[in-house]
Amino acid sequence: MENRTPEQARELLYTKKTVYERRSAEAVDEAYAYSRGYAEFLDASKTEREAVKTAIALASKYGFREYSFGDEIKAGDRLYYNNRGKNLFLFSVGTEPVSKGIRISAAHIDSPRLDLKQVPLFESEGMAFLKTHYYGGIRKYQWVATPLALHGTVAFADGTTRDIVIGEDPSDPVLYVNDLLPHLGHKDDLKPLGEAIVGEKLNLLVGSRPLGEEAEAIKLNVISILNEKFGITEDDFLSAEFSAVPIGCARDAGLDRSMICGYGHDDRVCAYPALTALFESLDSPHTLMCVLADKEETGSDGSTGMQSDLILDLIDAIAASQKVTAAAVRANSKCLSADVSAAYDPNFAEAFEKRNSALLSCGVVLNKYTGSRGKYSTNDAPAEFIGWLRGIMAKDDVVWQTGELGKVDYGGGGTVAKFVSKHNIDTVDLGVPVISMHAPYEIISKVDIYEAHRAFSAFNRY
Ligand code: MN
Ligand code: MN
Repeated sequence: MENRTPEQARELLYTKKTVYERRSAEAVDEAYAYSRGYAEFLDASKTEREAVKTAIALASKYGFREYSFGDEIKAGDRLYYNNRGKNLFLFSVGTEPVSKGIRISAAHIDSPRLDLKQVPLFESEGMAFLKTHYYGGIRKYQWVATPLALHGTVAFADGTTRDIVIGEDPSDPVLYVNDLLPHLGHKDDLKPLGEAIVGEKLNLLVGSRPLGEEAEAIKLNVISILNEKFGITEDDFLSAEFSAVPIGCARDAGLDRSMICGYGHDDRVCAYPALTALFESLDSPHTLMCVLADKEETGSDGSTGMQSDLILDLIDAIAASQKVTAAAVRANSKCLSADVSAAYDPNFAEAFEKRNSALLSCGVVLNKYTGSRGKYSTNDAPAEFIGWLRGIMAKDDVVWQTGELGKVDYGGGGTVAKFVSKHNIDTVDLGVPVISMHAPYEIISKVDIYEAHRAFSAFNRY
């Protein structure tokens, strides 16, 4: 046996270091500068529809043009497929044969929020409200007594559509969900946290001024304002998608400005670096694909979610353009499921197992598995694929860490990973650690998002 000193033996241990320990001050400045572009992306992309538009505008600057099925695809092409305005596939065709596989980065652009119901408007005791049906996993008590904006699209019966945003301009009115005053909240305070505010209490306060003296005069006033400003009637809500989201722009957080506080980091904080890494890697010999998915927060169902066969159809089209089988392409493809991870929070230490949790500012997080209980409903990436990724990230000196959502048996969650890996594509979750995930305003570290950009870039290039 070799005689090692304790110091030498220590070299054999896995140690987690922060980006600040690993990088120069200049490199940290670079990361902070990068995060400004992210904050702009976040502000312009509060819904999946807005994120698709923002991403197309960015991609167009890099020469991406719209693809339709049947169009020719050849090496060097930079294309995007806009799926119903809510889900976007961007791909660049490399110089090497596509039979070597596609490098796929798949993030989602939907976030938890309050969607309007189909027949939302009602009046009661001097106030008018819009009824909501929450979207995704929310802690309902977080959505009361805070200003909200309405973002939506109306599809009129004549085939035209209209985008509507109310509450973002400082001169706009805001919407609000009422909460009970503490003076009368003593009984509610004894309820479990998840029961004090129930879904049917999440009604948006939208008016208190009557139009005339008839019944439902406040409701009449609200609908006439909506009609005057946006040309909509109550019927138009039937074919509309409206979401109430927290108002305002992403802001620097912390006295040291090291973090960003904003709505919808999950998962635009991974969508943005996946996009910028694609743009930066356009000279890669590999065929690259960046997916911005919808419906992840509700299980990836539907025509715009990752369970749709659209990804297969696009891979089919790319494979056919080089006269190879899609099966061969998929067998050699690799995917980073670009999604956020829970950052260890010392304020809620009881929910985390520290050794296997992601820490804020320790870089991008690789989650071998997600799911719940005994690893149910998870991709659980093959060790060999993770080994390959370790090598790639080491080449570019990416600061990365492992993560697991929380303590075993405390809960769990899922990502799109299992919906990609089922197509015979090696897939693993890689993303940015988030504090207060799914809260109206979440927190991320500026240095972590930049390491995500570096990780996706390395994945695209090597
Ligand atoms: Mn997510
Ligand atoms: Mn989520």
